[in-house]
Amino acid sequence: GKKVVLKNYVSGFPKLSDFEVVETEAAVRSALPEGSEAVVVKNLYLSCDPYMRHLMSRNREPLRIESYVLGEAIKGFGVSKVVASGHPDYQIGDDVWGFTAWESYSLIDKPQALFKINHTADVPLSYYTGLLGMPGLTAYAGFYEKCSPKKGENVYVSSAAGAVGQLVGQFAKLMGCYVVGSAGSDEKVELLKSKFGFDEAFNYKKESDLNLALKRYFPQGIDIYFDNVGGATLDAVLLNMRNHGRIAACGMISQYNLEKPDGVYNLATIISRRVEIKGFVVFDHYSLYPQFVETITQYVKEGKIEYVEDVAEGFENGPSALLELFEGRNVGKKLLVVDRE
Ligand code: NDP
Repeated sequence: GKKVVLKNYVSGFPKLSDFEVVETEAAVRSALPEGSEAVVVKNLYLSCDPYMRHLMSRNREPLRIESYVLGEAIKGFGVSKVVASGHPDYQIGDDVWGFTAWESYSLIDKPQALFKINHTADVPLSYYTGLLGMPGLTAYAGFYEKCSPKKGENVYVSSAAGAVGQLVGQFAKLMGCYVVGSAGSDEKVELLKSKFGFDEAFNYKKESDLNLALKRYFPQGIDIYFDNVGGATLDAVLLNMRNHGRIAACGMISQYNLEKPDGVYNLATIISRRVEIKGFVVFDHYSLYPQFVETITQYVKEGKIEYVEDVAEGFENGPSALLELFEGRNVGKKLLVVDRE
């Protein structure tokens, strides 16, 4: 087998040379300790997620998950198959998704934290890294629970062609909102309009003044901003919110690689315009998962939701797949296939 390890803690932008792909002993596969309730899984699809940047730093202020251990397989969400089980609820052959590691086989001490996948042939298993997994639930909980959306409202989504953004935009359209997305390439902008049904979309890298760009797309102002990026985009949004607008603070990827965060200067507007900014973390919303997975699976079958994945293959390509997120090279949900069954 193989694994992806972090060689040194990262400051600033992560580089390929911060990682190494190494061989593992085959023993992991049969490493289930006597009498334990652990399971051993074979990892199939590994999810590339922006929060993983926090775990690459020694300083883990923004999140309270432990940093990666140097020389050990990096951790993350994935879809896996149970190959040995000491737990009565998990059988050999079960497909699961949850927190695992970037290695061929993983020992999971607390299998209760894994979600069992009720797999049907019409939904690809890889979708449980995105649409039907953690990022999908983030979009669902963040939009429906935090934004209090109403029909006809004006919604802006940043990083709109990504894993979370593409879904938020489509949820907002299903609700009957006017939806504008931004992304960092013309290819993504085209996808937003032609595939995901956004009313308008723009390439933020081509706008010299984000405030003016937002005024162009939202002459009446923004009711809901789903923030995936923070920084200068958030600052421009603050000048364009309507009275009683809502901002869901989902992520601030523009800040994750900066040693010193960008200043946000326009916060005072939230007072006069009675704007609510709500931060949230998907883990607090896991109780919504059964309702979420049922609803979204049905949407997929009815063709109400489009979903784009960006797939890399093999552990050797793992580090570069992960780094694409911070360079904006991924188009849609980024994931790594390391095995198929
Ligand atoms: P994406 O699929 O959207 O991938 C990341 C994208 O971020 C890139 O493709 C790029 O797109 C954009 N980006 C990268 N650097 C910058 C930058 N400096 N400025 C602006 N945009 C940038 O990732 P996800 O959909 O998985 O995650 C989206 C956000 O949601 C992240 O901030 C993440 O941390 C957050 N998140 C939060 C959760 C929570 O519980 N609160 C759970 C899951 C995710 P582009 O071409 O548009 O620049």
